[in-house]
Amino acid sequence: MDWPFSETQRIFRRSVRKFVNEELNPQVDEWEAQGIVPKEVFRRMGELGFLGIRAPERYGGAEADIWSTVVFCEEMGRCRSRGLTMGSLVQTDMTAPYLIDFGSEALKARYLPPMISGEKIASIVLTEPGGGSDLARMRTVAKRQGDHYSLTGAKVFITNALNADLFFVAAKTALEQGHRGISMLIVERDTPGFTIEPMKQKLGMHGSDTGELTFENAPVPAENLIGEENRGFYYILRSLMNERFVACAAMTSSAQQALEDAIQYAQDRELFGQKLSEFQVTRHRLAQLQTKLEAARQLVYYAAQQQAAGEDWSTTVAMCKAFCADVAVETSDACLQLHGGYGYIEEYDIARFYRDIRLWKIGGGSTETMYEIIAKRMGI
Ligand SMILES: Cc1cc2nc3c(=O)[nH]c(=O)nc-3n(C[C@H](O)[C@H](O)[C@H](O)COP(=O)(O)OP(=O)(O)OC[C@H]3O[C@@H](n4cnc5c(N)ncnc54)[C@H](O)[C@@H]3O)c2cc1C
Repeated sequence: MDWPFSETQRIFRRSVRKFVNEELNPQVDEWEAQGIVPKEVFRRMGELGFLGIRAPERYGGAEADIWSTVVFCEEMGRCRSRGLTMGSLVQTDMTAPYLIDFGSEALKARYLPPMISGEKIASIVLTEPGGGSDLARMRTVAKRQGDHYSLTGAKVFITNALNADLFFVAAKTALEQGHRGISMLIVERDTPGFTIEPMKQKLGMHGSDTGELTFENAPVPAENLIGEENRGFYYILRSLMNERFVACAAMTSSAQQALEDAIQYAQDRELFGQKLSEFQVTRHRLAQLQTKLEAARQLVYYAAQQQAAGEDWSTTVAMCKAFCADVAVETSDACLQLHGGYGYIEEYDIARFYRDIRLWKIGGGSTETMYEIIAKRMGI
């Protein structure tokens, strides 16, 4: 659909689609089996200008608007490895915005250009073994000691961790102050006292590497503090909007791809003397899924419109995250069912999609967390 995209964005869409079809999809089975994508994939994406869509031009970005981000997410969402999609979005929209929106000029100048070129890969580091939803309870501590912070604590489920060079870490700089005591620091991979262990055997998202991080009195230069001390929770809340929004744009497009695959399958498969797609129950189910996906997509576009207009988009983003994840998971279940036994083996993409997409009811803020945000906004 052309609306609401400009001619430039339509051209951009074609270039991302070509990249996904020609340079990623032929190799994703191998990367999924390895549980990680080669670092060169990020460098290639940087070379093509995909990693700095909304970043300032002076750091190598394109300074484009949110609709270009939507195009990128929608086309990356069609990649046959949703793990790879997630890893690339961590780089573009889940870490870089902390620097762009709140970082000092020195930090931006140092870290944005290599992130935009894909030379350095980044991770967002919030979740701890004791809990991800209740961020205010985090126990990782960054204690100021002269010209550096001494970082101690543990983090889990960190996407890109094995590939990453830069870690955007949330830690307590004032332990007893709940959410008012959190700060954000950039930690480099080779920091002494910092170790990374792979977290393997995930249900899905095998094309993304996941790690467990431990910090034991790891020294982090004081200038690597993003923004102000103890303002981290506010930065996280702001940045999580980007994170959830791009996840919604990508997962809705992934689900659209799965639906198109299922339609193709239903048109090919014959049973009881007719095509599967000719049974009214099949046609109605496919039509119902398309209707829900369209509603999900329009909610994504509504959020984009609000962001572009400078309005508060937080409630819409929360609604979007809860709704898109539900629709995508429902689509995965229904499309797998349509494939019958073939849906249960790896011959078709639907099995992988079914495993991958389930994450989005949990990751980046669970559905229950989204309903908490919405209920609070409703005054209940
Ligand atoms: C593959 C993968 C990749 C990830 N990548 C990253 C990453 O890159 N960086 C990062 O920081 N984290 C990452 N995460 C962590 C993810 O964001 C957390 O798993 C998520 O925030 C939930 O936290 P938790 O697992 O501790 O569950 P908990 O917070 O313990 O939640 C347990 C259950 O309680 C529910 N719940 C929460 N609040 C309420 C409430 N108010 N009322 C009722 N029920 C509630 C939750 O919805 C959930 O069902 C990743 C996770 C996975 C699985």
